[in-house]
Amino acid sequence: MIVGLDVPAEIGMAEAEVQTPALLIDLDAFDANLAAMRRIAEEAGIALRPHAKTHKSVDVAKAQIERGGARGICCQKVSEAEVFVAGGIADVFVTNEVRDPAKIARLKALAEHARIGVCVDDPAAVAELAGAPLHVYVEIDVGQGRCGCAPEDAADIARRIVETPGLTLAGLQAYQGAAQHLPDRDAAMARVMDGVRTALAGLDGEGIACPEVTGAGTGSYAHEIASGLYTELQCGSYIFMDADYRARGGDGVSPFRHALFVLAGIMSRAPGRAICDAGLKAMSMESGLPLVSGIEGVAYVGPSDEHGTIDDPVGRLAINDRVRLIPGHCDPTCNLHDWYVGVRGGVVETLWPVSARGKVW
Ligand code: PLP
Ligand code: MN
Repeated sequence: MIVGLDVPAEIGMAEAEVQTPALLIDLDAFDANLAAMRRIAEEAGIALRPHAKTHKSVDVAKAQIERGGARGICCQKVSEAEVFVAGGIADVFVTNEVRDPAKIARLKALAEHARIGVCVDDPAAVAELAGAPLHVYVEIDVGQGRCGCAPEDAADIARRIVETPGLTLAGLQAYQGAAQHLPDRDAAMARVMDGVRTALAGLDGEGIACPEVTGAGTGSYAHEIASGLYTELQCGSYIFMDADYRARGGDGVSPFRHALFVLAGIMSRAPGRAICDAGLKAMSMESGLPLVSGIEGVAYVGPSDEHGTIDDPVGRLAINDRVRLIPGHCDPTCNLHDWYVGVRGGVVETLWPVSARGKVW
């Protein structure tokens, strides 16, 4: 592996020598986030199945399972599930509807090698999954207006799953994505719980046991825990955090620290501004601009494809300085890079591939 051509860094190198822009994991903060979420789940007596769409990394998933208290992982796409199963993860839940016959065939093939979960929100979809030992969750729409059946209709789908040979009814998928980033989540989350109660009552009315109720993100998990209705948390962003979560109750408010940075290098200067080498191709900005970490009086103000303009009125940044940028939104940022460079105490300790990078099919 040649530094520069194949990888942005090598183990033992100083952080300042890493080729920029690079996706950095601060391993002390990462370990603290693993431990914090493990403790939260253990104290609540609830299982943890982190969402791996955040990181798309087999190494991060293994850390979550081996050290972070997770029973398995979630992912969003069949192609991601294929990467995680090939990487040795034994318990993978695709928190999505899969209707394309070719994708269903791929999912069924995976079920020969691992415990595979999948969602259904349409009675007609149950028969399509027959013939493989899949763990099937009825997804209910709890207010986001995306996938999910009406909570009243969950029992009908659940009954079909129970009656289909080979399939196991795993429970309810009840996730409210739109509530995660609200400044006040109370009303939206009360509606989530109404939906879950309605669906559970429907199953109960048909005499169908519901093994799991799963959902929750980094913004809402306290509500799912407090409800007493959930058996499993799917938080994803907690492992890295981002500027958007910080603005809505992140660092200092929630127990999670910023563990993910884009390391950028300064390549040009002019009075009042510095230009770095990380723009739209190095960070996702649809949830807001990145924050410059640890340097007062400077602000990332202008992204272009390959450049970032940093306001620097008093000239804090010099040519070849490195800046740690906190991305606005962690998940799509990770999908822009091939490697995570794990650093501790200013030294590169790990190089992890973004194993499922680009796996969106
Ligand atoms: N569960 C599902 C179904 C999701 O789609 C997501 C993220 O969008 C999550 C959990 C994790 O949410 P977060 O990254 O906010 O913790
Ligand atoms: Mn996200």
